[in-house]
Amino acid sequence: MSGERRRGEPRTALVTGANRGIGLAVACELGRRGLDVVVTARRGSDAEQAAQDVRAAAPAARVLAAELDVARAGAAEACHETIRATGMHVDVLVNNAGIYPRGDVLEQSDAVYHEAFAVHFFGPLWTCRTFIPGMLQRGYGRVVNVSSDCGSFGAGLEGPGAYSISKAALDALTVKLAKTLRGDVKVNAVNPGWVRTRMGGPTATRTPEKGAETIVWLATLPGDGPNGGFFQDLEPIPW
Ligand code: NDP
Repeated sequence: MSGERRRGEPRTALVTGANRGIGLAVACELGRRGLDVVVTARRGSDAEQAAQDVRAAAPAARVLAAELDVARAGAAEACHETIRATGMHVDVLVNNAGIYPRGDVLEQSDAVYHEAFAVHFFGPLWTCRTFIPGMLQRGYGRVVNVSSDCGSFGAGLEGPGAYSISKAALDALTVKLAKTLRGDVKVNAVNPGWVRTRMGGPTATRTPEKGAETIVWLATLPGDGPNGGFFQDLEPIPW
């Protein structure tokens, strides 16, 4: 059957927003761990450049660069077609792309809320709709939603309004999805901590590699690993 995984064949991971920051670190580490990697970015040229970095970090991995603006309706399906044309199929999906528009809850415009929800909620919803059916069909899948402590009710929903509310929506999507999955298909969310990236800024306490650690763990969980949880530093945390 086309799309069936042959014994010993590496899994394939797709990472959104993989052109820099935590996403690039995740893509490199998954490649080093023996997965093939689809490096996606909202601009094809950025994806291609990042794919060169992943190939350098993980010479044995098959690395495909693909354009994916997660906020654009139809983009996930178009990306799926690009991947399918190569004979690859996505076993691991890392919804990492993020934006951090500043401002309080009543100050931010509708346009800012729409963009935050497009990137943090609709983007992951669309990639899940596109790639989870194949995982269910093949009986294996790992989805990792990169959230934030700002999206956590338990941590007080700190941070800018649209950012924190849209990340809370991503957390809700994680919980709802986890209840519908079957076979060895799992979805979890992660708070990477405060990471030195363009978003986190130069004084953040963690390297992108440290920020990637729990994401990579969730992306490669064994069959008896958790489903529908929220994690930081390899440990469950409250929603
Ligand atoms: P960066 O700002 O370094 O990277 C964000 C990435 O998301 C970039 O690759 C960016 O692409 C991409 N992106 C933004 N919008 C889109 C879009 N519409 N389609 C595709 N890609 C898009 O941030 P980080 O690496 O720090 O953040 C990664 C994730 O971690 C985010 O979800 C963030 O919310 C989360 N996080 C980060 C924390 C931190 O301290 N850094 C703390 C908690 C959570 P482009 O180059 O085109 O802009």
